[in-house]
Amino acid sequence: MDRRLRIAVIGGGIGGLTTARALLRRGFEVHVYESSPELKEIGAGVALGPNAMKALRSLDLEDPVRAIGYQAPAQLLRTWKGRIISKTDATLAAQRFGANGCTIHRADLLDVLAQSVPASVVTLSARCNAVTTSQVSAAARFTDGTEIEADVVVGADGIHSAVRASLFGPDAPQFTGKICYRSVIPVADLPVRRLEPYEGLWLGPHGTLVVYGVRRGELVNIVAHHDDATYQHESWIAECDRGEIQDRYRKWHPALLDIFATGDIWYKWALYDRDPIPEWTKGRATILGDAAHPMLPYLGQGAGQAIEDGCVLGAALDKLADDPVGALQLYERSRRPRASRVVLTARSRGDDNHLVSPIAALKRDVAIAVRRRLGADVTGRGEGWIAEYDAGSPGALVG
Ligand SMILES: Cc1cc2nc3c(=O)[nH]c(=O)nc-3n(C[C@H](O)[C@H](O)[C@H](O)COP(=O)(O)OP(=O)(O)OC[C@H]3O[C@@H](n4cnc5c(N)ncnc54)[C@H](O)[C@@H]3O)c2cc1C
Repeated sequence: MDRRLRIAVIGGGIGGLTTARALLRRGFEVHVYESSPELKEIGAGVALGPNAMKALRSLDLEDPVRAIGYQAPAQLLRTWKGRIISKTDATLAAQRFGANGCTIHRADLLDVLAQSVPASVVTLSARCNAVTTSQVSAAARFTDGTEIEADVVVGADGIHSAVRASLFGPDAPQFTGKICYRSVIPVADLPVRRLEPYEGLWLGPHGTLVVYGVRRGELVNIVAHHDDATYQHESWIAECDRGEIQDRYRKWHPALLDIFATGDIWYKWALYDRDPIPEWTKGRATILGDAAHPMLPYLGQGAGQAIEDGCVLGAALDKLADDPVGALQLYERSRRPRASRVVLTARSRGDDNHLVSPIAALKRDVAIAVRRRLGADVTGRGEGWIAEYDAGSPGALVG
C-alpha cells in the first residue's frame, strides 16, 4: 500500500521513530534522517504513563515495550524522610485509565522503535540545518550540502531543533534554578538487592528524587532534582562527582544514601524552561516531540507526548492524505493545546515538589490525601487528564 505522499522525518529519536512507524502503517512513503552515526540513546530511564502505553498499543508496540520494561506494583509517593504520602496500586491505574504505566531504559525503548521500522528507511549521519516549505512542497538541507525534497517534512530533531529554528527562529530558554543528577545502577549492586525499599517519588525541601526499575527490574534508574542557581550547563552527558550528590542529600532517607554510595557514574544537567510556542506548522512542514514542546521532566511526559504526537500525525495525514497542508493543521489543532497544557503543568509541578516550608509541604500532602479519598483523582495530584487521553482513538483528532 504505497500512498505516494513522501514524508521526510528529521531526527531518529523517540518521536521520529514513532512517527515513522505510525506513517508506514498507514501506507505512506517515509524516510528518517538522523544526525548521529547510529541510532543510540543516553544511559537513562524513561517513564511511560498510561497515555504513552495506549499510544504504543495503537502501533502494536505495547507488548515488546512491556517485555523489556518494568512495571512497579504500585506508584509510591514519599516524603524525603520515607513517610508514604500515597500508594496507588497499579491495577487501580490500569482500570481507571485503560493501561498501566511502564518504566524502561531509553536504549531499550529506542531498540523496540528502531526494530519496528525497516532499516532501509533510516539514513544516519544526516544533520539537517534548514527546512524550506511552500503550499506545494517542502525541502530539507543537510550540513554536507545535500538537499532532499518531500511532500511533507516533520522536524523530530529534539530540544535544540534545527527545524524549529529554521521555521520559526531561535527559542528563548530560561534557566529554572533547578538541576538534575542521574544514574542507572544494577539492582544486584545495591546493599539489599531489591527495588522495593527505594522505588517511588521522594519529595523534600529543595528537591525531588525519582527512583524506578528498568530492564525487567534488573537496573534501577535514579533522577535527583535539586534547586541550584549556580550550575547552568544544559547537557545530558556532563558527568559529576558523586560526593557532591551525597553531600547535597545527606539528610534524606538512608535508603537513598545507599543508592548514591553505589552509583559509579553520575550525570548532572541544568533544567531550562521554554514557553509553549504559538505555532508548529508552516505550509508542508511541522514539528513534534521536544522540537515542538520541550518540557521540564517533573511529569515524566516528554517521551509520552512525543509518542502521542507521532500517532496523531499519522491519523491526521491518513484522514486528509489528499490535502497535506490541511492535515498538518489538523495535527497541530489536535495536539498543540494538550501538549502546551502539559508543558505548563510540568512547570508548576516542579515548584510543588520542592516546597521548603514543612507547613506548606504538609498542606500539599493533606490535599493529595483528600483528593484521593474523594475518589475522583487516582494519584491525588490532578493529572488524570494526562493519563486518560488515548492518542490512538478517533477522538484524538479535533475538528
Ligand atoms: C535523562 C532524561 C530523562 C528523561 N526522563 C523522561 C521520563 O521519565 N519520561 C518522559 O516522558 N520523558 C523523559 N525525558 C524527556 C524525553 O526523553 C524527551 O522528551 C524525548 O526524548 C523527546 O523525544 P524526541 O524524539 O522529540 O527528541 P529526542 O529523543 O531528543 O530525539 C531527537 C533526535 O533527533 C536527532 N537530531 C538532533 N538534531 C538533528 C538534526 N539537526 N538533524 C537530524 N537529526 C537530529 C538526535 O540525534 C535524536 O536522535 C527525559 C529526558 C532525559 C534527557
